[in-house]
Amino acid sequence: MSTVEKTDAIVLRSAPIRETSLIITFLSRDFGKIKTISKGVRKGRSPLLSHFEPFTYQEIVFYHHPQREINLITDSTVKESFSFIRNDFVKICVASYMVDLVDEVTQAHQQQKELFNLLLYVLCELKCTHPLKLLRLFEVNVLKYSGLFPNLEKCSVCGRAQLPSRLFFSFHHGGIICSQAACRQKAREHIDISSGCIAAMKFLKEHTFTDLNAFQVSNTIEGEMMRLMQSFISYHLHHELKSMRFMKDVGVMVS
Ligand SMILES: [Zn+2]
Repeated sequence: MSTVEKTDAIVLRSAPIRETSLIITFLSRDFGKIKTISKGVRKGRSPLLSHFEPFTYQEIVFYHHPQREINLITDSTVKESFSFIRNDFVKICVASYMVDLVDEVTQAHQQQKELFNLLLYVLCELKCTHPLKLLRLFEVNVLKYSGLFPNLEKCSVCGRAQLPSRLFFSFHHGGIICSQAACRQKAREHIDISSGCIAAMKFLKEHTFTDLNAFQVSNTIEGEMMRLMQSFISYHLHHELKSMRFMKDVGVMVS
């Protein structure tokens, strides 16, 4: 049986359906990811239409049925439209990737309060923090909340915690490996990882809601972390997100 519910929510994506309606996917504070339909919203000039642009933060009222894939949305009040994101090309690219990534790693109807708070935080922070810095913080913490954050404490093959200075990273094992030949052989494909990159990732994981303007890493570590995150996320999703591919194609992100 359906109940009428009210919750805060952020638009992940929306798509037209039939002549006049719209399907909107939200990450909500209380119900996790939900798919809704707004009937007739594309007819005439409904003021609601602008509410359903990606990233818009709002309070929604909808009929909730736990077994139903699509729920009817009846009302929405915008809390933040994030116009400062829509007026900046790099910010649009980064925010689009963020909502895409959330959409990919979440299942419908599973409460994801921490992820909701993280997404809302980074969208707000885009106002005054460098978008690519925020992207690193976001990716690290999405992995944390999805249970995919890599093991950076001990060798993923032999379990050794006293680690040498030269370390590697295995996508297959989801973490670092030591320099012993046996471990490297077992890990199959692996890449170099610096202690600076490990430290930066740990810091971002432990300081989710930190002021990143005080967080400084060298360009080398920044680049290393960016490549590692991109490859690790694509490895887990089994594909590269279109929004990430787009950022590379237009030069917002380097390959
Ligand atoms: Zn080892």
